[in-house]
Amino acid sequence: MKIACNACPLLCQISDGRTGACDRYANQGGALVRLDPVVILNRALKSADPIPLVSFASSAAASSSDTNGVAQPSSEPWSGNILASQDVFVTGVGASTTYPDYKPAPFIVGSLHEGVDMVTVVTEGIFSYCSLKVKIDTDRYLGPEQANVLCRGEVVGHVTTAEYGSQMLSLGGVHHLTGGSKKEGRVTMEMMQALGNKQAMALTIEGGAELVIQAGRAPIVNGVAEQRMRVGCGSAAIGIFAQQFLGLADEVVVVDDHITGVLTEHQAGKCLNMPSSGIIMRGRRSTPGRYFQVANPGIGWGGTDIADPLAIIEGWDPDIAKPGLKLLMTSTTGEHASWYVLDDQLRPQECSMPAAVRAVVDRIGENCEPSMTSILFVGGAGGSLRAGVTDNPVMLTRAIKNALVNVTCGGAPAYVWPGGGITVMVDVLRMPDNSFGTVPTPAIVAPFEFSMRADDYAKLGGHTAHIRDLQQVLRDGSWHSDGAPLKLQWLAPSQDNPWPLGQPPLLG
Ligand code: SF4
Repeated sequence: MKIACNACPLLCQISDGRTGACDRYANQGGALVRLDPVVILNRALKSADPIPLVSFASSAAASSSDTNGVAQPSSEPWSGNILASQDVFVTGVGASTTYPDYKPAPFIVGSLHEGVDMVTVVTEGIFSYCSLKVKIDTDRYLGPEQANVLCRGEVVGHVTTAEYGSQMLSLGGVHHLTGGSKKEGRVTMEMMQALGNKQAMALTIEGGAELVIQAGRAPIVNGVAEQRMRVGCGSAAIGIFAQQFLGLADEVVVVDDHITGVLTEHQAGKCLNMPSSGIIMRGRRSTPGRYFQVANPGIGWGGTDIADPLAIIEGWDPDIAKPGLKLLMTSTTGEHASWYVLDDQLRPQECSMPAAVRAVVDRIGENCEPSMTSILFVGGAGGSLRAGVTDNPVMLTRAIKNALVNVTCGGAPAYVWPGGGITVMVDVLRMPDNSFGTVPTPAIVAPFEFSMRADDYAKLGGHTAHIRDLQQVLRDGSWHSDGAPLKLQWLAPSQDNPWPLGQPPLLG
């Protein structure tokens, strides 16, 4: 017999032994069940290794034999050992969704934290309004600002404003999920799920680079794994290392696509009483010793398109420059560096770099942090998801803005943006593995937890009749009569995260 899943607007009719379109729910002997385990953090666990799955006691009793490949819960139910509630946190990962939205969240957990009665409302949200903000630590030119980012031939985002030492992408979002073709929406959704779940994805930037990115890993740009994030812009590198160059070089140029630094013109060189070298630079002089647009952006020296650094030198003032002048040219990471001496015609001749100069160049490299890809999930929980928390949704928004409610995603701290709504931003690396799911509407499924004092929960019109204490939750699972998760997965919390209960929220 088919049963209807109403955990998302698709409303799948699922035959016995089969799963719905998202593979998250199944019909097991006429019962609708959630197949993924609920992830429960346990501070008593010493290892980050997951403990084997166990069943909620009630679901183990009700489980039936495997049919047509539908996964069954472990036959081992949770032992029911009393756990100290301050050490256990039920996350939204695998908690299941509440569609239609008027249903109370699947887990509304009462627990004690430092003698205070707390409530954590645990749910999974379905998000059409969500995106990924990607920070790629590299000087290399990835593509023009506003250029399209493609995945499997579909536009899934764009290049956005570069930050200090990093190129930035904005991926996903409602426009690509719902505003384009069916294929664009599906590819966008799959790309977001994969990156959110810490997997690698290949992307192409129109008019720019081929990328492979993965949260917590070095980006691969045009087939080459990036090594270093620059120490700073060219001007900053001049300022940082000026004292160490003094006495070794008569002129130092730090080549940078954004701000190229020239030591003797720079304020740092002036403070050290360095005489002018007579160098005449290409590009647009911004302030003394700081030049913009010395070349085009690219994957050469310092994020420019040059392979020969001398290409950015226009010439030398013959009234100032002297034969024998010693010139160092380096990139902002020290990966490229050359040493020159001016000949009698004031032409730079490349020579072998003295050991003392090499030591300073090596120090530039030493001060570069490893290049990394960072991925933040941004989602708007200001919509209907709030009705799973309270009858009066604006009260939840206000309570969050008043720092009465801590918002976490899979137990990871979420930054709440200022202004209206509940728009949160969370580092996917701090969330449990495979925190994100999808539904084919298309949309992303993401875990959310709202933790607060029990009396505050009552004041904001919370579904207090559905509060169950932690021991009962661990024994019986969620209150939902259908689509309830059958299994729980113990996990040690990430050492990087504060414990979700008792933490002030990260408010903007
Ligand atoms: S796609 Fe998944 S959540 Fe949506 S109705 Fe089908 S089985 Fe349920």
